[in-house]
Amino acid sequence: MLSCSRCQAPLEPTALRCPRCGLTLKAHGHPGIPLHRTEGDEPLCATCLYDADDTCNFPQRPHAETCTLYRPVNAAQDIDLPTLSPGQQVSFWLRNHRGLVGIVGLLLLSLALVLVR
Ligand code: SF4
Ligand SMILES: [Zn+2]
Repeated sequence: MLSCSRCQAPLEPTALRCPRCGLTLKAHGHPGIPLHRTEGDEPLCATCLYDADDTCNFPQRPHAETCTLYRPVNAAQDIDLPTLSPGQQVSFWLRNHRGLVGIVGLLLLSLALVLVR
């Protein structure tokens, strides 16, 4: 049984916070592995390298709000990770800006209709 490192209260394996003392737990109670959390409304996957290079098969993708594997897409250059091909970068950007792509598409369609008349 997992227990809190501060107050020794028993913990559920999926607990994010100790129910007794409120200690924020890492990696669902497994010490030493940081559990990344989203800040704001955007899921972690929207800025994760493993979503961008399409190598993640976690079931919570693409809506993960907490994840132990999260790797910021910008970190690929800082550490020795394979960088994204231009095609992967374009597809990642398009997936994460669907609203903008839709609006630009509608504007272009409207423009085309005006020009055809
Ligand atoms: S590793 Fe985690 S944050 Fe990254 S894409 Fe997979 S589920 Fe999302
Ligand atoms: Zn505790």
